[in-house]
Amino acid sequence: MSTLQVALNNITISLPMPIFLVIEDVGWWQGADGSADKQPFRTGFTRRHCLDDYRALDRLGKKLHMRVALGMVLGEWGRTNLLKDIAGATWLGSGWDNHINQGKWLDETARYLYNHQDTLEIAMHGLCHEFWQDGLMDRSEFHDSNGTMRSEQILRSHLEAFGTLLAHNNLPARPRLFIPPALHHSFGNGKKSMQALLHGYGIDYVVTDFSRARQYGPTPA
Ligand SMILES: [Zn+2]
Repeated sequence: MSTLQVALNNITISLPMPIFLVIEDVGWWQGADGSADKQPFRTGFTRRHCLDDYRALDRLGKKLHMRVALGMVLGEWGRTNLLKDIAGATWLGSGWDNHINQGKWLDETARYLYNHQDTLEIAMHGLCHEFWQDGLMDRSEFHDSNGTMRSEQILRSHLEAFGTLLAHNNLPARPRLFIPPALHHSFGNGKKSMQALLHGYGIDYVVTDFSRARQYGPTPA
């Protein structure tokens, strides 16, 4: 289904369809939508997530003959509660305690992702998807709902924490793709843009709906 085939003088030419599947909000261990309680929306699942969810994503990629990008939120992968020191990262602030999400599933799923990089590509989505100030949730983690970028200091601390969570879990190396949480984003702002910052962390591609982003300048040709 993912390939167009054209027969011509006994020669068959196969053209892959120009589709790149991106699945966001991967990485939560808890499924519950916590938005009524100032927590993340998560996936809305009524159970916890587990390794089998990643096996299903791998099967999907294989059936599509496609490497699937996983827009990951890594906040619940913390083994050392490091997010308590990252401003705005969680609804609990300095009281952040991730022990409920620390278990054997971290190692087994990290190993699975490491061994299935041909079908599952880790992309950065965020730590906990939103931004919290004085315990109140504000959409979203890197830009507000008007497409105004949060401070460079905040962004750097969140990007570095994402990298630390990848390393602490022995997950595949730095991602090359970023998917803005809630599609709140901006571009065209030159050296002040998030793109410039992301580039410094090895992330050169942003996958989003640009019509919903704040545009400081025209879209580059
Ligand atoms: Zn999302």
